[in-house]
Amino acid sequence: MKKYNFNAGPSILPREVIEATAQACLDFNGSGLSLMEISHRAKDFQPVVDETVALFKEILNIPEGYSVIFLGGGASLEFCMIPYNFLEKKAAYLNTGVWATKAEKEAKLFGEVVEIASSKDKNFTYIPKGYEIPADADYLHITSNNTIYGTEILEDIDSPIPVIADMSSDIFSRPIDVSKYGMIYGGAQKNLSMAGVTFVIVKDELLGKVSRQIPTMLNYETHVKKGSMFNTPPVVPIYCALQNLKWIKAQGGVKEMERRAIERSELLYAEIDRNKLFVGTAEKDSRSRMNITFVLKDEYKDLEAEFLAFATSKGMVGVKGHRDVGGFRASCYNAMSLEGVKALIACMQEFEAAH
Ligand SMILES: *Cc1c(COP(=O)(O)O)cnc(C)c1O
Repeated sequence: MKKYNFNAGPSILPREVIEATAQACLDFNGSGLSLMEISHRAKDFQPVVDETVALFKEILNIPEGYSVIFLGGGASLEFCMIPYNFLEKKAAYLNTGVWATKAEKEAKLFGEVVEIASSKDKNFTYIPKGYEIPADADYLHITSNNTIYGTEILEDIDSPIPVIADMSSDIFSRPIDVSKYGMIYGGAQKNLSMAGVTFVIVKDELLGKVSRQIPTMLNYETHVKKGSMFNTPPVVPIYCALQNLKWIKAQGGVKEMERRAIERSELLYAEIDRNKLFVGTAEKDSRSRMNITFVLKDEYKDLEAEFLAFATSKGMVGVKGHRDVGGFRASCYNAMSLEGVKALIACMQEFEAAH
């Protein structure tokens, strides 16, 4: 039976990306050696990093004055590296969920933190609006896509201070105006690569400004200066990211990724809104194109385990919702086909007809 992978992360990747990465693990560039057993400083590997950086810049249209680096530690390590590198006195945080809260918690270790708005009052089902950004803060931190709750900030915010965005789960899903950001970062395992590498796009002029001492490995300048080669970078995940970037470019770039994301998400939300059994959890104007969250209506709540088992029997994988939201979550990253979304909709309709 065909499986449709709706996992939230690590998550779906194009088949050809997985195959190319697997092939390089067996025989890298016809060298007779595995990608896993060569030096990251081998002359064959440097072009992989260079090309990955170049494709990042090309596909996202990153302007001059920004560096792209690859690190370990996941998005979670960035939560502490960000204040370490940028928080002198005060930072502003927009609280839109668990990841945003975790980022904010780390910043409090380094200075004053202003939470400019929060949607915690309604279990993070919406993106707050009408907040004020303090012009005297060092930066504003946002989480552009809230993977757990299925909410997303789809515009690039105008801000008097540098915006730092956790784009772990929506990077490369739409064109972004990088010039409006001081830094964009994320774990690769949602929409870029396999687990193991973190990407950071950082505006060079923001580096080296804080007065505190920064441990070498936690200092962005170290990695910018050494082109992600200060220590051994995650070689295989970077190679996998390169294959995926080539795939994105060949498909038509981020404009095409956005078109597909709109098509998939509109179709699924239309079914959620139409189907008598289900209801979406995120407010309509805050809905994510990447993580689509829905639950059974109160009167049908006892059917939850039954629907999950039914969807699983039809080949759906990973549609169980996060424990903080319950119900169901269909993560529809770049590699998710329209066919996959239609198969999930067919499940929902068949289940509705049976009840
Ligand atoms: C998954 C996720 C994280 C955590 O990423 P790690 O790489 O596991 O540290 C952080 N932020 C968002 C928005 C996520 O979706």
